[in-house]
Amino acid sequence: MSDLITVQGVVLSAMPVGEYDRRIELLTRERGRISAFAKGARRQNSPFMAVTTPFVFGTFTLFEGKTSYNLSQVAVQHQFTELSQIQPGIYYGYYFLELAQYFGREGTDEKEMMNLLYVTVKALLKKDMDPRLVRCIFELRTMTEQGMMPVLTECGGCGESVPEDGCFISQEAHGVLCDACSRMAKDAWRISAAALYTMRYIVSVPMGKLYTFRVTDEVLSELERFIHLYVSKNTDRRFKTLDILQVMCS
Ligand SMILES: [Zn+2]
Repeated sequence: MSDLITVQGVVLSAMPVGEYDRRIELLTRERGRISAFAKGARRQNSPFMAVTTPFVFGTFTLFEGKTSYNLSQVAVQHQFTELSQIQPGIYYGYYFLELAQYFGREGTDEKEMMNLLYVTVKALLKKDMDPRLVRCIFELRTMTEQGMMPVLTECGGCGESVPEDGCFISQEAHGVLCDACSRMAKDAWRISAAALYTMRYIVSVPMGKLYTFRVTDEVLSELERFIHLYVSKNTDRRFKTLDILQVMCS
């Protein structure tokens, strides 16, 4: 006996299986990160062909088999096919999916990460939005959603609240430090008020407002300096898609 279930989700990845089939990985609201078998998805006239590809958001109907889920039907909400034409946006997109996949777990509610991916992919499609800024925002907000938000309001050393201007930041301290405590940290550097303000904004604003601002090149460099290293220090995988992104953008 198999049961039919319906989940809302996004396709994170798709892998060919055998001659005509595909295995997809989904991030879903109801079941967390799951994989599903899409029979015949690589046959020319299969209704699954176009909808079992990365960046497809929709409602997926699945048979719950003994060992895996089997795809039965897909109702697409958003497909983002235009993203594949955008360079280097598409490479950023694949990296974002891999980061979401890294943190996704079976059986958890992934609604927030799905929403974050959705607004982030939309941001990549905006012509006036720098994908480097999109990456900083996505990474920092992902760490926040995963319960690994850096400390941005009080000093990681003494606990005193730090002024926006004249504040230091450190990976060792997992966030900001006051002037006195920064002298004890090997890797502390002075962060500008604008960059700190931007980071506080990213961790706290409603999802829909995440991609509504721009920053100067100087501030963007500060964000990259802290956030990219913060992600790599707090994850234990080398992201293949990030290697590709770096090659494409160098
Ligand atoms: Zn301190």
